[in-house]
Amino acid sequence: MKPLVLVVEDEIALVTLLRYNLEKEGYRVIEANDGEEAMTIIDESRPDLVLLDWMLPVMSGIEVCRQVRRKPALRDLPILMVTARGEESDKVRGLNTGADDYITKPFSMPELLARVRAMLRRSQPVQVGKGTLTFLDVVLDLSAHRVTRAGRYIHLGPTEFRLLQFFMEHPGMVFSREELLNAVWGPDIYVEPRTVDVHIRRLRKVLNTVGDLDIIRTVRAAGYALDADPRLSMEAEADSDSATDHTAIDHTATDHTVGDLSQGAA
Ligand code: CA
Repeated sequence: MKPLVLVVEDEIALVTLLRYNLEKEGYRVIEANDGEEAMTIIDESRPDLVLLDWMLPVMSGIEVCRQVRRKPALRDLPILMVTARGEESDKVRGLNTGADDYITKPFSMPELLARVRAMLRRSQPVQVGKGTLTFLDVVLDLSAHRVTRAGRYIHLGPTEFRLLQFFMEHPGMVFSREELLNAVWGPDIYVEPRTVDVHIRRLRKVLNTVGDLDIIRTVRAAGYALDADPRLSMEAEADSDSATDHTAIDHTATDHTVGDLSQGAA
């Protein structure tokens, strides 16, 4: 069955354009023109991915996102937020509300399609039947696609699951945001390095509701690692709250952006 994409957008001309391009890519497309209609269709049709405009009549995209994430059955539904807002704080707010990724209007169609492809790929169950990965009290079951800590079930979104899986496959190794983006999001897609921080924060939060030891270490100017050294973990807590943490890898962010733009223009 072809993946079903729900386009939530009130600009009819843009809906038409998105439908044309998504169908050309081989997806089935349904549409909603306001936030309330979107909720109804999501409940009834269970799309595989939602392209969600932020500015919508009746109910905003952010509110749709919030309501979707409140429903346990919809927690894994990939949401790509489409926003005219370029403010960094708005982007982070979108991600914190539960969007998996965002794209800013005006966007290029190839970039949007690449993101849709990457998100659908991430939401597929990975490596079925490959057994389990264990790190201290954390067990990641690849075949059942579930994670427990100290025997208690932890619910992770698709991106957090892939992040944790990648860390658990390489315990103790430090990865830059760039490396994590390549490994988890895929090399063909541009995501701002800060997106990694948001997902790491989400992963930390859910992992730490069950265990008291923060096993994700923030390595200043380098990136992140799965680490069980309590002393380092205490540093990690301090680092994760530090504003200078982001500026420390600014050169990476710049390189990534430049590389992407040149690819996009080619
Ligand atoms: Ca709109």
